[in-house]
Amino acid sequence: MDSRDTFLSGRAAGVVSLFLVLTVLAALAAVVVGCGGSGAVEPAAIPPVGNQPGGAMATAPSLPTPAPTLLPPSSPTPAATAAAITDPALITQATQTAAAAPPTPEIAGAATAEPPLAAAPLPTPVGVYSWTLKVPILMYHYISQPPADADVYRVDLSVTPDNFRQQLAWLRDNGYTGIDYYDLSLAIVGHIELPEKPVLLTFDDGYLDNYTAAFPLLQEYGYKATFFVVTDFVDFEREGYMTWPMLEEMSRAGHRIESHSRTHPDLRDKDRDGLIWEMLGSQQTIAAHIGYTPRYFCYPGGDYNEVTIQMLRELEYWGAATTANDTWHGFNERFEWGRLRIRNDTTLQEFANVLDLEGTARGKPPQ
Ligand SMILES: [Zn+2]
Repeated sequence: MDSRDTFLSGRAAGVVSLFLVLTVLAALAAVVVGCGGSGAVEPAAIPPVGNQPGGAMATAPSLPTPAPTLLPPSSPTPAATAAAITDPALITQATQTAAAAPPTPEIAGAATAEPPLAAAPLPTPVGVYSWTLKVPILMYHYISQPPADADVYRVDLSVTPDNFRQQLAWLRDNGYTGIDYYDLSLAIVGHIELPEKPVLLTFDDGYLDNYTAAFPLLQEYGYKATFFVVTDFVDFEREGYMTWPMLEEMSRAGHRIESHSRTHPDLRDKDRDGLIWEMLGSQQTIAAHIGYTPRYFCYPGGDYNEVTIQMLRELEYWGAATTANDTWHGFNERFEWGRLRIRNDTTLQEFANVLDLEGTARGKPPQ
């Protein structure tokens, strides 16, 4: 042992002694504080933000506007909307149902695995990373013959019932199983397995023909679908749109009713209060009608930015649908999941080409 070792040993011994002294002092201090009755302070329970089990939705403590649906948006809105939402019975109902898990779809051909974790927030990925899954998400709007005077946009957004029936028949004949966004989320984080050939059907805007034409065909062919509705259009029973009794019936049949905002605005123009009004307001309204909090959002016009995404996170949405053309869906990109647009002039062969994705549902690590 040279002098350097001795020096280090001496230093080490000094450190140990000092540590012992400090330990004794700390113990004494603990006893003194404990006698005072104010010791052993537990960390204060931090109330969760948003829609937590136990009805925390009503408080939403960290949000500056605890009851955002009570506030009118910056743009003029019919007063009746606020009246509908301020109904205490509705709010209570929405709050009580916030933590309820979505019901099990009872459609033949639907995914049989019941999501084991359906309460908010979205469970974190199992393991080191989440999977990115390749799943075709189809985007529909109208299921009807467009009127004679329809413009090009209306025509493009319309798939005829005959074509839709052929597409469903093709899906069934080729072994596809209808899933929803809850299935997709839980599969991405590793909590459930998807069927071998999953397909996710979505309908935007809540048009009446979704109920009169698409719903019966979906039932006939055994596919569940997701309907993104604009809740003020439903509240005001706007002509040409589905009503709450229709949507409730579809929800009971196993389809999903999710949010497409309250008024279908360009969300990039909205300030924080406006975003809360559109996103939380529609979420609570749907929850009041279908019995659980919807966790998915569809951007009106496909337009969004970082601010809209951040608000969806705060409101504990689990994911969002864009109009981008994409079939890979990962956890980190869950507010920018793309879809495949099915058009009026999409032939069955084109439909088959789009769907016949080699390696559908095969997971891969995120980039
Ligand atoms: Zn839309």
